[in-house]
Amino acid sequence: MKSLEQLNLSHKYTQLPDNFYSPQVISQLFNPKLAGFNDSVAELLGLDPEQKKREDFSDFFNGAKPFPGVNPIATVYSGHQFGYYVPQLGDGRAMLLGEVTNNNGETWEIQLKGAGPTPYSRNADGRAVLRSTIREFLCSEAMHGLGIPTTRALCLFDSETPVYREQVERGALLVRVAESHLRFGSFEFFYHHGLHDDLKLLADYVINHYYPHLLDSNNPYLALLQTIIHKTAKLIAQWQAVGFAHGVMNTDNMSILGLTLDYGPFGFLDSYNPGYICNHSDTNGRYAFDQQPYIGEWNCSAIAQALIPFLTIEEAKAALNEFKPYYTICYLEIMSRKLGLQNSALENKTLIDELLKLLEQNNVDYTLFFRELCFFNSRENNKNESIRDLFINRESFDNWANIYKSQLQKDNQDDADRARQMQQENPKYILRNYLAQQAIEDAEKHNYETLENLLKVLQSPYDEHEQFEHLAQLPPDWAQEIIISCSS
Ligand code: AMP
Ligand code: MG
Repeated sequence: MKSLEQLNLSHKYTQLPDNFYSPQVISQLFNPKLAGFNDSVAELLGLDPEQKKREDFSDFFNGAKPFPGVNPIATVYSGHQFGYYVPQLGDGRAMLLGEVTNNNGETWEIQLKGAGPTPYSRNADGRAVLRSTIREFLCSEAMHGLGIPTTRALCLFDSETPVYREQVERGALLVRVAESHLRFGSFEFFYHHGLHDDLKLLADYVINHYYPHLLDSNNPYLALLQTIIHKTAKLIAQWQAVGFAHGVMNTDNMSILGLTLDYGPFGFLDSYNPGYICNHSDTNGRYAFDQQPYIGEWNCSAIAQALIPFLTIEEAKAALNEFKPYYTICYLEIMSRKLGLQNSALENKTLIDELLKLLEQNNVDYTLFFRELCFFNSRENNKNESIRDLFINRESFDNWANIYKSQLQKDNQDDADRARQMQQENPKYILRNYLAQQAIEDAEKHNYETLENLLKVLQSPYDEHEQFEHLAQLPPDWAQEIIISCSS
């Protein structure tokens, strides 16, 4: 395990031409204070977690003691925001510090979020407030714990720098980690500016470093598009199955590695409401929960467009046509596992659709229902009262449960075995808004313990945490008043 000095940061993105990025100087936060630290990401980087105890730990990330040999950079991109093309975006408040190679030979980018303005900040301050930083820190680790591809987070710093949003808030700094933070919008920038030579350099960079196996295919650029489409479809299937709404699925927030990227006004479903809009600024519901698969496909068409110089129209169309069926099969497979069913996933479509309809009609909490379902008793005379009681219309549950039961009986699996298996598919703990809110309010009072405990539980959301049973509770009434917008 290495010290900070031994991490040996470097850049490979700077091998690309100058117009891909711009060198940055960190605008230091005043009195940065470590507010959250993630040992498992430290280990991923090969960094000794004990380094967090160093007096000068924050100096390395706050620009007071720069990592030797590397300058931070901000990268350029563009993207479609709420359906409209915006030609100039970029890392407006993110800076890539560099990347490290761990003992397994994996390279991980270390990025700061909130380190001050860059040429891509478009008159904004380049800062991130404590509340949004805590939400991203917690949610990215929660997603990882759930087994959903995501950027990670090493740590976050609170500070005394005032940041002006609707009111004055404290500035914070997130240290984000991913193999790559490149977005669909990175490709769109070079395509829409007519810089097709640069576009090719970017595509080659992505293929060489992240998808080298694609070099064996007839057209690696087509294979790249197909891979991105598959990864995106699968990611969104995972979101839908766990009840996660991203909130701002603009193409500049879509990862070319199929990671969940850029946590803003996200939300997890409480009761099952397919039309759930987590982003208060999304007045038309473009990014409502049940729209995500369509938007995912729409976003893939934006990257297909950007790669068109290397493809025929027919190839691009055929690749895009794979999104829907691939999404559907991924989703049905996950849902079948959540239900503990062993038959082929496509056969379960009606059962799943019927169940979702019932959950919606009866206002049943999505996470709680599936966790309770793990303990479903498949014996003929058992009414499964505790699950049944979650429904307003209990007879409607009985009808569904009878069909479910007959399917389970065909599988002929021991209930206890299935329960064990299903608990690994149905989390007990998710990052409900009210839990994030409690961690934020305590952190705003300089108490970071709630955050620390929540992180610990969310990192293994399928396990029981007896001491933290309350974190699996349904949201209190006040949770309905939490408003999450794009402001961050
Ligand atoms: P987002 O909606 O957070 O994905 O941001 C869209 C674009 O605005 C990205 O290019 C961000 O880097 C940029 N941006 C958002 N907030 C800020 C900020 N406070 N300062 C500078 N740039 C920002
Ligand atoms: Mg973004």
